Amino acid sequence: MTGPRPRPGIMEIQAYQGGKAQIGNSETGNARPAIKLSANESAVGPSPKAIEAYKDAADRLHRYPEGGSEELRGALARRHNLDPARIVCGAGSDELIALLTKAYAGPGEEVLYTEHGFLMYKLAALGAGATPVAAPERALTADVDALLARVTSRTRLVFIANPNNPTGSYIGRDELHRLHAGLPEDVLLVIDAAYAEFVEAEDYDSGIGLAATAPNVVMTRTFSKLYGLAALRLGWLYGTPAVVDVVNRLRGPFNVSAPAQKAGIAALDDLEHETRARRHNATWLPWLAAEIEKLSLVVHPSAGNFVLVAFPSEPGRDAAAANAHLEAEGLIPRAMGAYGLPHCLRISVGLEAENRALVASLARFVQGQLAA
Ligand SMILES: *Cc1c(COP(=O)(O)O)cnc(C)c1O
Repeated sequence: MTGPRPRPGIMEIQAYQGGKAQIGNSETGNARPAIKLSANESAVGPSPKAIEAYKDAADRLHRYPEGGSEELRGALARRHNLDPARIVCGAGSDELIALLTKAYAGPGEEVLYTEHGFLMYKLAALGAGATPVAAPERALTADVDALLARVTSRTRLVFIANPNNPTGSYIGRDELHRLHAGLPEDVLLVIDAAYAEFVEAEDYDSGIGLAATAPNVVMTRTFSKLYGLAALRLGWLYGTPAVVDVVNRLRGPFNVSAPAQKAGIAALDDLEHETRARRHNATWLPWLAAEIEKLSLVVHPSAGNFVLVAFPSEPGRDAAAANAHLEAEGLIPRAMGAYGLPHCLRISVGLEAENRALVASLARFVQGQLAA
């Protein structure tokens, strides 16, 4: 074969499939409005102040953004009591995950994560030409011993989503610190805290303290989940000056758009909305889990804004059948085959009416199976 050939690893990447947004086909005009619960987006949406700031930015679209996201970093630093010089903003935390991987791992080197960990880690490893390595989990939860047992002289990065998507599980402060303590100094531990704002457990630690003190720890965060700004692509990381310097060299000079920076600043300023979003989740996450369990389905405990539901394996009662049933009734969950959990569906917390519609539809599915 002639023609340009990509680096080894690239063609092994299965392009990331986001959660479906609609049912039917938009090109043939068959698309129907649906309740989208497939991407862990905010049920309540962004702060009205963030929307206002985004609209205001429309007057200056001919201007490049401020390249260092300085004002936004200042707002984040004030909010979380951090050093702004140790923050890097990115076009979603996905960009930061890819940049960190590209910076610290390459061919012949390994990127370690957990069995059902967030898919981006594997994609980023392959994209960098590195070797992805998955450590087994225990009861769908990161297993620190299993992770540490898979560290070799070739391991360059360890990713842990805490809480993890799609399992919803998290490891507590002691386990997180034990993971860090067991890693060699030259291995970078990336703590992906995309759902940190939702966690209510006392023993939870977003990793912010480790990232502030340990030279080999980075914490990543996002505006896509609690803040409801997924469309704008906005995330940030906190790490030591050496890591921050590396990422700043590698990132695009204008990697965060001006409207995203402005909306992010406004979102951080709207504590009332943030509290509303958090309270909404604290109310409806347990409700959703309890109502689905009443249908004799297994719901894994979740610290995020979604539940992972396990279905029986019999054809007609399995996750694929449930997915088809929900879609036929206008509801979109997320199929989990790509995460090695083909017997599960992941369902995001929605608005009250959406949650009730989801449970009613699942009940019809389960009752239909009993009647058959
Ligand atoms: C949603 C999610 C992200 C955030 O991605 P963005 O690129 O910031 O939208 C990162 N990590 C995990 C585990 C997630 O679920």
